[in-house]
Amino acid sequence: SNDYRVVVFGAGGVGKSSLVLRFVKGTFRESYIPTVEDTYSSHQFPAMQRLSITKGHAFILVYSISSKQSLEELKPIFEQICLIKGDIENIPIMLVGNKNDELNSREVESGDGEATAKRWKCAFMETSAKTNHNVKELFQELLNLEKSR
Ligand code: GDP
Ligand code: MG
Repeated sequence: SNDYRVVVFGAGGVGKSSLVLRFVKGTFRESYIPTVEDTYSSHQFPAMQRLSITKGHAFILVYSISSKQSLEELKPIFEQICLIKGDIENIPIMLVGNKNDELNSREVESGDGEATAKRWKCAFMETSAKTNHNVKELFQELLNLEKSR
């Protein structure tokens, strides 16, 4: 099929749009321009979230290393993916700790991200859309996961 859908989940402000913008256009914006999905928390639209999961082929779950809360907020989303997709070991899922340039305000240690990914049996990576750290690698790795399954 020529429509391979990668769904990016994560709290508002963690850098979802920035990661995609960095990967697709190679640019970065300091200003925050919330998208419709961010303006209305996806929790308000469980049906939309279910539809995204049903139609998605691969998932990027993004939190910010400067917000423990943003990692917490991924848990119900991960659980939804498990419920809807069933055998998630056959689905490329990447847990991403973005903003890893914000070292002075780190709230989530790399080890905590890794441990969560291990529990969830998914891949893990820290990125920075700002400094372009691991952004290419993130999308490349997702592709590798797809090929190796
Ligand atoms: P989204 O709501 O998840 O789509 O988040 P955005 O991509 O709109 O980013 C929210 C804010 O965080 C913006 O002000 C971005 O400039 C900033 N931001 C995004 N990624 C990074 C990053 O890797 N490092 C830093 N320091 N800021 C980032
Ligand atoms: Mg956005």
